[in-house]
Amino acid sequence: MRALIKASAAPGLTLTEVSEPAIGTDDVLVRVLRAGICGTDLHIRDWNPWARRTIEPPLVLGHEFVGEVAAVGSRVEDLEVGDVVSAEGHINCGRCRNCRAGRRHLCARVRGIGVNQDGAFAELVSIPQSNIWRHADGIPLDIAAIFDPFGNAVHTALTFPVLGEDVLITGAGPIGAMAAAVVRHAGARHVVVTDLNEMRLDIARRMGASVAVNPRTHDLADVQRELDMKEGFDVGLEMSGAPAALNSMVANMAHGGSIAVLGIPGEPFPIDWTGVIFNMLTLKGIYGREMYETWYAMTVMLEAGLTIDPVITHRFTFDEHEEAFATAATGRAGKVILDWRPA
Ligand code: NAD
Ligand code: ZN
Repeated sequence: MRALIKASAAPGLTLTEVSEPAIGTDDVLVRVLRAGICGTDLHIRDWNPWARRTIEPPLVLGHEFVGEVAAVGSRVEDLEVGDVVSAEGHINCGRCRNCRAGRRHLCARVRGIGVNQDGAFAELVSIPQSNIWRHADGIPLDIAAIFDPFGNAVHTALTFPVLGEDVLITGAGPIGAMAAAVVRHAGARHVVVTDLNEMRLDIARRMGASVAVNPRTHDLADVQRELDMKEGFDVGLEMSGAPAALNSMVANMAHGGSIAVLGIPGEPFPIDWTGVIFNMLTLKGIYGREMYETWYAMTVMLEAGLTIDPVITHRFTFDEHEEAFATAATGRAGKVILDWRPA
């Protein structure tokens, strides 16, 4: 079968012929239909310092995908060939304290599909049955393909109550844009989104932001005044990884406000801790998705009318992967989808 792999410890990716993955008794073989390109995949392609520390080539990349069940192991009972599925990309150990308490998203020994083991940029991928999510009828394939980053957005957006609250989202990448739609759906009053990239601000507006601004030209204090806000944002969602964004958020929060931090900074940076302390802010780090409450929430919100379509801006076939990755890397894109069905 064909797969997009990191062949050796150097920049670049290779589309090549590899053997089909074997499945064990508890595994599911999935024929990949569509897959999303994530920042993680760009880091692996570029062979950045994180990738050098983490990735052991050869490796099939990819963890955001939708496919059809092609075969099941002998102990898999509730899935059938042809079922439309995605997978939770974090495989937990099942044995640590958190796993045994049912807090699987806090597993002490998590492994990543497409990071620590072969992933979904391939015609077939093998997934443990525990990690398979069977889609409800009527979920469009392109949306099903991005349940992984959609789940990051939902996990972060629903970490603190937003009903009637004023929400600030820093970073309008695919995840920040989807979070804007989610908090809007969940009943937030004002949803203010910041980004340096005009195209992405436009996507955020189409996803339901009340106001989307470039912080280099618009002061958040002015935005608050324009919206007739008096005391700052109640909830902050940091989705850029930019030090300046988190510090501007701290400076614009209401006393007692809550910040969920998903964006991953490139390196350690100083925070204005006096703002956190005197204003009694709560900061919480967010990793991955809750298993499987986030997956349930994504499904039922879509069924209840939530729309995230504007976040998908480009579609390519898998043999156009170079153009697809180049498009994702420019930042002049929302979510980029690869079609894995052979022509
Ligand atoms: P992305 O890189 O596509 O989007 C980040 C956006 O932040 C970009 O559009 C960029 O222009 C914007 N930005 C940069 N500086 C800014 C500033 N000062 N103010 C406002 N915006 C600024 O990333 P994404 O795929 O949407 O993911 C969002 C973040 O979440 C990334 O940092 C990513 O690494 C991280 N992430 C975390 C997890 C997790 O489990 N914690 C999972 C996936 C992604
Ligand atoms: Zn564990």
